[in-house]
Amino acid sequence: MTKIGLEIHCQLTNLQSKLFCPCKANYREFEINENICPVCMGLPGSLPRLNQEAVKKATMIAMALNCSTPKKIAFFRKNYFYPDLPKNFQITQLNIYGDTSIGGTGSVMVGDKEIRITRIQLEEDPGRLIYEGSSSKNQITLVDYNRAGTPLVEIVTEPDFDGPKQVREFLNILSDLLENLGVSDPSLEGAMRADANVSIEGGKKVEIKNIGSFHDLEKAVHFEITRQESLHSREIEIAQETRHWDDKRKITISSRSKEEALDYRYFLEGDIPWVTIESEIHDKLKSEMPESISSKKERYVSKYNIPSQVADVLSSDKFYSDLFEESHSESTAKEIANIITTDLMGLVDTREKREASKITPKHLKDLAETIQSNKISRNSAKNALYEIVKTGKDLSHIISELDLGNVSDESELIKIIREVISEEFQAVEQAKSNPQTVNFLVGKVMQKTKGKADPKLTLDLLKKEIGV
Ligand SMILES: [Zn+2]
Repeated sequence: MTKIGLEIHCQLTNLQSKLFCPCKANYREFEINENICPVCMGLPGSLPRLNQEAVKKATMIAMALNCSTPKKIAFFRKNYFYPDLPKNFQITQLNIYGDTSIGGTGSVMVGDKEIRITRIQLEEDPGRLIYEGSSSKNQITLVDYNRAGTPLVEIVTEPDFDGPKQVREFLNILSDLLENLGVSDPSLEGAMRADANVSIEGGKKVEIKNIGSFHDLEKAVHFEITRQESLHSREIEIAQETRHWDDKRKITISSRSKEEALDYRYFLEGDIPWVTIESEIHDKLKSEMPESISSKKERYVSKYNIPSQVADVLSSDKFYSDLFEESHSESTAKEIANIITTDLMGLVDTREKREASKITPKHLKDLAETIQSNKISRNSAKNALYEIVKTGKDLSHIISELDLGNVSDESELIKIIREVISEEFQAVEQAKSNPQTVNFLVGKVMQKTKGKADPKLTLDLLKKEIGV
C-alpha cells in the first residue's frame, strides 16, 4: 500500500511582526534586506522576545485541527550552518520533554478517511536564497534576510494518505481552514510550502524536500509514486533517501548533500522562558474561534434552505462567505447565495480581480431586494453586478444610467403586448388551445423589452389580452 506523510509549513501572514522581533511579518513589501534588525540577524547581545499573537494564532490552528494544546510550551535551538540562517540556528519546537510544541496529536477527516496530525510547531522562517547567473559555472547565490524570523507553523501528519488525490483534498481543506481562521493567506507566493515522505508497498521511505507550493506538492507526490513503481516493476531496489523537488523540471532529484544526516544538536532556547498558556487564555481563544466551515455550511442549508452544493462553495471561501454574512437577511439569503455563486464568482475568480473589485455587502443587499421586488430582472441584475464590481457605484445609479429597470408600467407593457399579439397571429391561435404557447409569447415580449419586462406581470397581462 502507498503511504504518504506530509510536513506542511504555513506562514502566519496576517501578523504585524516577526516571531521574535518587531520587524514586519509582511516582508514582501520591502526592498531586499531592509526588513531586518539585530535580533533577526542574530547580532551578539540581541535578545528574542516572543510574539504573543503568533502563539495565539498557532494555538487556534491547533484547535481547528482537533489537536491537543499543551499547557506549557518550550522553544529549542536547531543548529545548522546554512547561509539563509543568520544565527546558525533556527528557533523551533521539539517534543523531547513530553508535548511542549504548540499542538499535540489531532485529526482531520478527508471524505471518510481520518488523517492523523502528529504535532504542530511554531518556528521562525529562514531567509531566502536567490540564485543568479545563467549556468552553474557563473552562478552566484544572494541572500535576502527580510523573511528571516517570520512566524511559521509546521503541521506534521502521520503517513495516512494513500494517493495524490487525497493529498490534494487535504490541502484544499487546510487552506480553506487557515483562511477561515484569518491567520494566513494561502494564495501568497511562498506562504505554503511542504516536505513529503512517500513509500510504496515493499519499498523504503523516500523524503521529498523543498516543495514550494501546494500545487507542486500534489505533482511531486505523483511523480515520486510513479518513479518508485517503475523501479519496483524492474526489480530495482528503492533506496531510502532524501530527494529534492526541482520546480522547473517538475521532477524529484536525489539530494547529494549530506545536510540531512547531520545531528542538529537540539537544545532548549535559553533566551526564551517556557510559556504557560493559562486555562483562561485557552478558553478565551476557544470562544473566539470563528465558526467552522462545516458548521457554516450546515447553517446555510438548514436555516435558509440553500442547496447543499451552493452552501459548500459559499462556506469554504472566506471572501465570499464574509460578503454573504454581511449582506443577507432571512428573506434575501437564498437570492444572495445565488448571486454570489452563479454570477459574482465568475467575475472575481482571481486574487487580483478580488482586490480590484469594488463590491460591498450593501451592493449585494440592494441587488437582492431590487430583484425580489421585481424592479429589475435577473438578466439585468447580472449586467448591474458587472458594473458594480468595476465601478463600485450605487445600484440605483447604475440602473438609471444603463436603463436597466423593469418595464412595470402596465400601460406601456400592454402596448408592447398588443404589438406582439398582432405580429404572432399563429402563436396566439395556438395559445388558445395550448396554454404552453403563452410562454413563447412572453419570450417575444422579453425580446422587445430587452429582458426588462416583469415576467409575471407580462404573463398575466398576456393571458388577459388573449383571453385564456
Ligand atoms: Zn528583526
